[in-house]
Amino acid sequence: MSYKPSITNVTKASSNDKEGLYEFIIKLADGTECRAFYNRFPEWKMTNISRLLKTPCPVCRKDFICKCMDSFTADFEGQMTGDEWINKAIAE
Ligand SMILES: [Zn+2]
Repeated sequence: MSYKPSITNVTKASSNDKEGLYEFIIKLADGTECRAFYNRFPEWKMTNISRLLKTPCPVCRKDFICKCMDSFTADFEGQMTGDEWINKAIAE
């Protein structure tokens, strides 16, 4: 199984700047959308990710809740910080 998420857009859905808590909507190249929660203190860390139920899961093809995206947390985190998606999303 060689799925690899590729982020094409990130928007900030909500935030609590004082607490350093952020909610982002992540769009992927294959049309999948995910909701990710972050805590920025002491450094940016993804605390939860789930797929929005708009399209079937690209991994298991289910159209209801699954935990597949959890396996790709490292991929998501690498792109979110490495490709500056977080910085762009919170600057908007
Ligand atoms: Zn799945």
